[in-house]
Amino acid sequence: MNPQDRSFFRLQWAALLLIATGLLASRSIAQAPPHLLLSPADFTRLNELARTQPWAAKQRAAILKEADEFPDSYEKRFGLTSLELPPEGGQWAHDYVCPDTGTELKFHPPDEHVCTDTGRVMKGAPYDQIVYQDRAFALDEGALAAALAYRLTGDHAYAVKGAQILKLYADRYLTYPLHGIMGREQSPGFTLFGGRVFAQTLDEAEFLINICWTYDLLRDTDVFTPQERTHIERDLIYAAAMICDRSKGPTDNISSWTNGAVAAAGYVLDDKMLVDQAIDGPWGFRFQMKNYVQDGFWIEGALGYQYYALEPLEYTAMMAKRAGVDLWKQEPNLGALFESPLGLILPDGTTPGFNDARAERHVLDERAHLYEAAYSALGNKDFAAINFNAGRANRDAFLFGVASIDAGSLPKPKSAVFPDAGYATLRAPVGDLTEIMKFGPFGGSHGHFDKLTEIIFAKGVTMSVDPGTQRYGMPSHYTWDKVTVAHNTVSVDEAVQKPATGKLVAWQAEPEFAAVTADAGPVYDGVDLQRTSVLTSDYVLEITTAKSTDGKEHDFDWNYHNYGVQHADGTFAAYSGFPQKDGYQHLEQNQTAAISGDLHTEFVMDKDHEMNVWVLGGGVQSQVFTGLGLGPDLPVKIPYVIVRRHGVEARFVAVLEPGPAAAGIVSVTSAGGKIRIMSAKWEDTIEPGEKIAYHRVSLP
Ligand SMILES: [Zn+2]
Repeated sequence: MNPQDRSFFRLQWAALLLIATGLLASRSIAQAPPHLLLSPADFTRLNELARTQPWAAKQRAAILKEADEFPDSYEKRFGLTSLELPPEGGQWAHDYVCPDTGTELKFHPPDEHVCTDTGRVMKGAPYDQIVYQDRAFALDEGALAAALAYRLTGDHAYAVKGAQILKLYADRYLTYPLHGIMGREQSPGFTLFGGRVFAQTLDEAEFLINICWTYDLLRDTDVFTPQERTHIERDLIYAAAMICDRSKGPTDNISSWTNGAVAAAGYVLDDKMLVDQAIDGPWGFRFQMKNYVQDGFWIEGALGYQYYALEPLEYTAMMAKRAGVDLWKQEPNLGALFESPLGLILPDGTTPGFNDARAERHVLDERAHLYEAAYSALGNKDFAAINFNAGRANRDAFLFGVASIDAGSLPKPKSAVFPDAGYATLRAPVGDLTEIMKFGPFGGSHGHFDKLTEIIFAKGVTMSVDPGTQRYGMPSHYTWDKVTVAHNTVSVDEAVQKPATGKLVAWQAEPEFAAVTADAGPVYDGVDLQRTSVLTSDYVLEITTAKSTDGKEHDFDWNYHNYGVQHADGTFAAYSGFPQKDGYQHLEQNQTAAISGDLHTEFVMDKDHEMNVWVLGGGVQSQVFTGLGLGPDLPVKIPYVIVRRHGVEARFVAVLEPGPAAAGIVSVTSAGGKIRIMSAKWEDTIEPGEKIAYHRVSLP
């Protein structure tokens, strides 16, 4: 080697040394003990907790069981003979439905996807790839369970199991091509919102949070060589964070997930830029709390998405707190997101399926786990009651909850209005009659064109219903779930409402009744829509006005959907005149009648549940339509009634009485601006106006 070469070689060595020093410096965090969500001291505490609290012992045992069974559980579930990663990236779970019925398919290994309603067998793409998505989630969850089990027991074999998944994915991650949702190649952001292991940044983010946590729990052990640590940090965690962090959206809850994943990667890699981006970035955590929360409700207007967004938001707050930033305190809208659903909860614990949410979730049981860390952070007594009532039967209670909660009961829910979020919950002074009206912001891509819609709950069940949402792979999600005629509101000229934000006009919560008036906002050009609902313990009075503001005549349709079998007074004839679009194509067994007086119709659900509906004639001609539409459960058709009036304005005065009623309404009349409702036991007079006057006379 000549001297020139030697000096060049020395320079190279010097450079390599500098790089190595840099790597060592960065490895000081890589070999740090767990700190992302739980520390070694926490595991000591958790083991003690499990020794003293039976509910905690159960959760500890469940983690060990999951870890013990993994990866056999994975291989068995997916019909595999070895621990192999999915051969390709995943696909969109919303397409995993029986095309005929909308029911979720069932996987029969190795390659059949079976429709359990019809026996039809689906094969190939995208179904295989949707199973690959399930496999990836099963792998990251198994790895996390193993890592937690290692920390709880010190058993080295668990650490090896967890580490194996991280190593396999570090080798593989960058070889999975970036891809989006199959069949949506033309949609905006197809590639931007895609992933490698998954078809969406959303799922990639959910996966990455678990990967980061698993790595955090294991990295200071001997299951990794220094090279493996670098490989995992660079080629899996950082690489996946870059996938997640490419863009805002496409929906607001997805941004919460990608922020959560970028935060997890940032805290694990001690990368301040990633942490700043996730928390203080242009669409980061703080931006979301300031811009996406109204009256404590999530901007997308669907409680399902509110809770879904809360998972990563909560993780982010927990991780930040461990790093010395208390987002729980600094961003009070986070706590508000936990509180607000209590205002919409129906007496049986379900929440309405407004916008793209499923109806009928037993929300306080299913989401109780989220309230554990929230209670630890905020000490809200209602959260403690939710945790207590759920029996602390979830992993988060063990990992993130307080040691003990003595007892707790939720306060009796009251009528409440949320003007900015656009919900009014009217609750009966006596009994469980509840109506929730919706008039708020549209809700973006998860919104429904349903301003002024309502649902009514009584006698333990939901009666007047919103379709909620199917899986997004079902065409009727777009052609029915979202459209105006599918909701309990007014549509004009058989058209779908435009996206709009309505507003609260008046609100009254009195000892004997609750009342709300809301305006739909600009949902139709040249038409104003307003609705007043008055709820007593016995019925709902609903006054809906539609007015042309440009002098033009329109068809105004009052739409109503209720479970059960419908009977209407009058002579009806078959009808086939509905347009085959905008949701009307889904209406079937259609009948119509011209009615000049009042309409009385009933929806009989069973011997203990029915809804009696009166729509006053108001001295004008109505065309009434009845038949069946779709509902939350596609195979169960739901009867509808549409009352159509033509002109420059229409006023629908409806009384909805859940039954069988103790007194039973016998007549509804309107005179001199007052509405009189008579039963065998009482006579009510209601005078609508800026302030609603209500008066009841008991009959002898
Ligand atoms: Zn809806």
